[in-house]
Amino acid sequence: MEKLKYERPVIRKMNTGLMNKFGSRIENEPVTQIDGIPVSSLIKKFGSPLFVISEKQLRSNIQNASRIFKTRYPKVQFAWSYKTNYLNAICRIFHQEGSWAEVVSGFEYQKALENNVPGNKIIFNGPDKSEDDLLIASRNNSLIHIDHLDELLTLIDLSDKHKLRPRVAVRINMDTGIYPKWDRFGFNLENGQASNAIARIMNDKNLQLVGLHCHIGTFILTPSAYSVAATKLCELARDVKVKYGRSIEYLDLGGGFPSTNKLKGIYMPGSDTVPSMDQFADAITNTLLGFGFRQDELPLLVLETGRALIDDAGFLLGTVLTNKRLSDGRRAIILDIGVNILFTSLWYDHKISPAQDSVQITEDMVLYGPLCMNIDMIRESVNMPVMEKGDQLVVHKVGAYNMTQWMQFITYRPNVVLIDTESNSHIIRKAENLNTLHSMEQLPEHLKNSGLK
Ligand SMILES: *Cc1c(COP(=O)(O)O)cnc(C)c1O
Repeated sequence: MEKLKYERPVIRKMNTGLMNKFGSRIENEPVTQIDGIPVSSLIKKFGSPLFVISEKQLRSNIQNASRIFKTRYPKVQFAWSYKTNYLNAICRIFHQEGSWAEVVSGFEYQKALENNVPGNKIIFNGPDKSEDDLLIASRNNSLIHIDHLDELLTLIDLSDKHKLRPRVAVRINMDTGIYPKWDRFGFNLENGQASNAIARIMNDKNLQLVGLHCHIGTFILTPSAYSVAATKLCELARDVKVKYGRSIEYLDLGGGFPSTNKLKGIYMPGSDTVPSMDQFADAITNTLLGFGFRQDELPLLVLETGRALIDDAGFLLGTVLTNKRLSDGRRAIILDIGVNILFTSLWYDHKISPAQDSVQITEDMVLYGPLCMNIDMIRESVNMPVMEKGDQLVVHKVGAYNMTQWMQFITYRPNVVLIDTESNSHIIRKAENLNTLHSMEQLPEHLKNSGLK
């Protein structure tokens, strides 16, 4: 047996924090491997910091979500929200599992095409579609979700000029009891904008209204908000049927289901506060089934779920650079993980685990990143075993939005590795280096000589 590590005695200042119903339970179990591969060997092979994605978890998440909805409602289609994580390997896993693509820019649209998504399985959202984007999407028979009046007028013009019959949906914003309201996207329901937009579409000879769309917010904690949204979309679909005799083919309820991360300012861990996918599915499908559509006219239910499907499949591995005492006596640990690659540390208190068996002594500490910027703080106060230079750790549930919102600042963006279902690891995005950055820079002739000798 290995000799136990000596731990020096410490005198600890007691801070009388609030107790919770679990007493003073602290989760400091080390996490030494991911899908069977030791953290230490991943870091040795691919460097630190390192994003790791579990293909097993990803596939299980989307299969689970599909099952939850499809056992409740006969016609369901998921569309992968590209902006949540648009690394091609990730998108292709979702497409292999049957998800369409949901994109919000011309660049994401092109990415979906390059991932071999058929045009008619791309949903094009967002306020910034250029004329070119609209033309390409119309020619490809994609589903264009109209965001504002200028876009609608442009599309009416373009389709007339180019003899196209685009398939469109209207993005609707509405009061669902979620505040602040997300009323900057799409047409407002309550003030009549939405019906006006629909009237314009129905009066146009080219545009084909096939769907109604809403995306009521993100990290929504109240399933009932989705029943309200679904009811309002159903009513609108019925109005269209009554007024124009046209059946709406699909209702798209958008994304917004929460992941099990812990939001800052919420006391309990995410797994205790976040409603389950089943509760959201009940809210939506009970509304659709109970609304009174004829069986043969039940609309297809489209879901653009993003973070809830990927957050827990992503890990960020890192290494301790040093630990020190702050002037007020608190322990500070400096990691090689900065906020520039962990954007979601702005809203989440991420769960962070040591990656090796550690000492039993825990302390309240601050976790800082490596950037020379005061904002670079990963956790303001966390109770963890004291870690030393070279110790490794795992940040959990980082799959959503970090690998799209990260920025290159002071440090390079690191490798992203996928662990497949047979526990093989593959780099799916290479770490940046000086060449990556220099390949985009240009020096004017008169600055080629630096001047200093
Ligand atoms: C961002 C976005 C999504 C995904 O949202 P999540 O909160 O990650 O589920 C879906 N639809 C639209 C239109 C979006 O902008």
